[in-house]
Amino acid sequence: MGFRRCCQATQAVRERCKELILSDDTLRELQRRFLENIQRGLGKDTNASALVKCFITYVQDLPTGEESGKFLALDLGGTNFRVLLIEISKDHFEMRSKIFAIPQHIMLGSGERLFDHIADCLYKFSKEENLLGETLPLGFTFSFPLIQKSLTTGILKCWTKGFNCSGVVGQDVVQLLLDAIERRGDLKISVMAILNDSTGTLMSCAWLNRNCRIGLIVGTGSNACYIEKQKNAELFDGEDLGSGNVLINTEWGAFGDDGALDFIRTSYDEEIDKNSVNPGKQKHEKMISGMYMGELARLVLERFTKEGLLFGGKGSDALFTRESFYTKYVSEIESDRPGSYTNCTEILEELGIKQATEQDYINVRFICECVSRRAAHLVSAAVAALLNKMGEKKVTIGIDGSVYRYHPHFHNLMMEKISHLVDPGIVFDLMLSEDGSGRGAALVAAVACAHPR
Ligand code: BGC
Ligand code: MG
Repeated sequence: MGFRRCCQATQAVRERCKELILSDDTLRELQRRFLENIQRGLGKDTNASALVKCFITYVQDLPTGEESGKFLALDLGGTNFRVLLIEISKDHFEMRSKIFAIPQHIMLGSGERLFDHIADCLYKFSKEENLLGETLPLGFTFSFPLIQKSLTTGILKCWTKGFNCSGVVGQDVVQLLLDAIERRGDLKISVMAILNDSTGTLMSCAWLNRNCRIGLIVGTGSNACYIEKQKNAELFDGEDLGSGNVLINTEWGAFGDDGALDFIRTSYDEEIDKNSVNPGKQKHEKMISGMYMGELARLVLERFTKEGLLFGGKGSDALFTRESFYTKYVSEIESDRPGSYTNCTEILEELGIKQATEQDYINVRFICECVSRRAAHLVSAAVAALLNKMGEKKVTIGIDGSVYRYHPHFHNLMMEKISHLVDPGIVFDLMLSEDGSGRGAALVAAVACAHPR
C-alpha cells in the first residue's frame, strides 16, 4: 500500500471476490444456455420439461395511445400490495392508489385468507374512492408464474419470492379472487385481464414508446417479457387479432434450476438458496434480485470478517444475523461519492460495527460492487440473448423494480455490458418504466376492452 492513502480493496479481498466476477466469455456462455432454455420453453414438444416456461400471455397488441377509460388495478407480488384507480385518456394518465400491508402470516398462510385480504383491501379502497356503486373493469397484476389459458385465466404454477400460500398452486387465481368477492357479497368488479408485472412494464413503456419490445423487472424478483411471433410460440392457441405477435412471459428466474448456472454459482448462492422458502427454485433470480442481494453481500461480509479480512476480524451480532443487511444498503454504499464514506459509515454503525477503518470502507464498497455488478451482468446477458433472438434493429427495453430504480450504477452497468454482448447493428436503450405493474394492468385491461372477444 506504500505511503499513499489506500483507495483500492486489499489484495486478499480482491482475490476472494474473484469468483463473483463474470468475464465476457462466461457471459456469452450464459447467453447461449439461456437462449436454449427459451427455445425449449417455446417449443410444443419441449415445454413440458422446460424450466424457463415462456408463458403465453394472450396479450397481442401494444397500446395505440388511443386507449381511454377508468380502471381498477390490483398489484400483488412486488415490494407492496396496492389497489389503484386509473383513468386513461389520450396522452394522459391519472392515478390514485393505496398501499396495503400483507403481513407475513398471510404470505405464508392459506390462499383463502390471502384472497379475502385482497378483497377486503379492494373494498376499503372502493369505499374511500366512492366507487361502490360502479362495476369497474379491473386489471390484476399477479407477479408469479402463471399458466394462462386466456387473458382472464391464470393458473398458478408455483409461488416465488416470499409467498407460499396453501391451496393456490394449480388453481385459477382470477377465480379465487372472484370467489373471495362473492364471499363478501358487497363488491362488484369485472376482471378484464390478469397479467405479470413484466408484461405490465412492457405495455406501460410501449404506451410512450413504440419501440418497446421487452419489459424487465429487477426488483424484489426478476423476470422479463418480450414480443414473440405467434408462429414461434408453438403453444399459442389463440386467434390472431392482426399483429401476428404475442407477449411471452419468460419467467427467467427459474433459469439454472437444472444446474445450468452451477459453473458460476458460489457457496454464498448455495446458502441463500438453502435458507429460502423455495430451495432449489429460482436460482437465476436469487443471484439477481432485491430480495436476495443484501443478504448475498452480508454473507460475503460475514465470511470475510470471520477470516480476519475485515474489521480486524471483529464483527457484530447484527452483521452475523440473517437478512440484517438490506438490499438498499448496497445501493446506498455505492452512492457514496468516491473517496467519501458517509452512507457506509452510517450503515456499519447501524450494524454495530464500531472500529471500521477507511480500508474497511473501501473493502465493503468493493464487495457490494461485486455483488451488484454480477447481478447487472447476469441480467445483461439474458437481455442480450433476447435482443439477438428478436433481431430487431432498434429496441427499447422498459424496466421497473427497486434494484434498477435505486441502484446508482445498475443502468450504466447494463448499458455497457449489453453493448458488448449484442449482435452488431442492434441499437437499444433502457428506459425506466413508470409503475409498470399499476399502469400496465390498466393498459392491458384497456386494450382488452377495445378488442372484446
Ligand atoms: C416471479 C415473476 C415476476 C418477478 C418480478 C418472480 O419471482 O416469478 O412472475 O415477474 O418475480 O416480480
Ligand atoms: Mg411493481
